[in-house]
Amino acid sequence: MIVVLRPNITKKQELAVLKEIRKLGYTPHVMRGVERTVIGAIGDERNHPTLEALGVWPQVERVMPVQKRYKLVSREAHKANSSIKINKTLTIGGTHFHVMAGPCSVENEKQLMTTANAVKEAGATVLRGGAFKPRTSPYEFQGLGEKGLKLLAKARNETGLPVITELLSEEHAELVAEYADILQIGARNAQNFQLLIAAARTGRPVLLKRGLSMRIEEWLLAGEYILANENPNLMFCERGIRTFETYTRNTLDLSTIPIIKKESHCPIVIDPSQGAGRADLVVAMCKGAVAMGADALLIEVHPNPAEAWSDGAQQLTLEGFKKLMQDLKPFIEAAGRTS
Ligand code: PEP
Ligand code: MN
Repeated sequence: MIVVLRPNITKKQELAVLKEIRKLGYTPHVMRGVERTVIGAIGDERNHPTLEALGVWPQVERVMPVQKRYKLVSREAHKANSSIKINKTLTIGGTHFHVMAGPCSVENEKQLMTTANAVKEAGATVLRGGAFKPRTSPYEFQGLGEKGLKLLAKARNETGLPVITELLSEEHAELVAEYADILQIGARNAQNFQLLIAAARTGRPVLLKRGLSMRIEEWLLAGEYILANENPNLMFCERGIRTFETYTRNTLDLSTIPIIKKESHCPIVIDPSQGAGRADLVVAMCKGAVAMGADALLIEVHPNPAEAWSDGAQQLTLEGFKKLMQDLKPFIEAAGRTS
């Protein structure tokens, strides 16, 4: 909190304010300007009584909270959890725990349909699949593009599962929104602000991945772009950050679950597939995410991971996914959610 004192007050009046600030558990730092004296009251405003009452003291001109840089995504702006309606059929961020599953990339009709039917059968409620792929190397498979979107639409028609797919560039915003029920903004584009604005303006729900080396505050601020552009349907998705570790592809930061829950009202989704980069770790990561209060999971599943055109090492087999869904049931119930 910042406490601005009136000019020309007595030393005694100033000391009384300092005493009150200390009494309420803050450490005052006095800054003397030419005209005014300002006191910075250092302390966690959430654990101490508010200093706002000082505002009515005659020697105090103003009391200002130190504003968070994000507003619309913040818990302060919206106390209750937000829930996102997808296709009028399901709600993410409510009591039901959702699992979005499907291949990293849409490769062909058979691969997608087989996966879509299998993940639905196992209990997934959203189908994932990349049509436009952000690849580190330009020589790697870049995705089927619009053809992939058409296959996703076909899979939705056949299974009834809503579809999430990545929006890679601004120029495709309308096209991807035409086919997708949720737009995924990938880690590499998490701070591409013009893309965020374009995604928001389509009106589709947006799942915003955390960037590879993005601080949580930056991620929240990126999310602010969605809400500030009149789209309230935002989900954050933790997918691991770049660290010095080499045993995993990324370091999946599960601490983001309670942090996002505390700072924001928006749902939080965990992607353990990009997060670990290893299929053998996905089950444990999912259990942890459920127990820590995530609202949904985003998981890569492929009929034959060894032959996948992207991210083979991290994709679950159809059998593996079925087993995961069974193993997660008691965790979902223990977390007070339905599966
Ligand atoms: C993906 O989901 O396949 C993907 C490319 O994700 P990220 O942007 O998190 O790397
Ligand atoms: Mn992938």
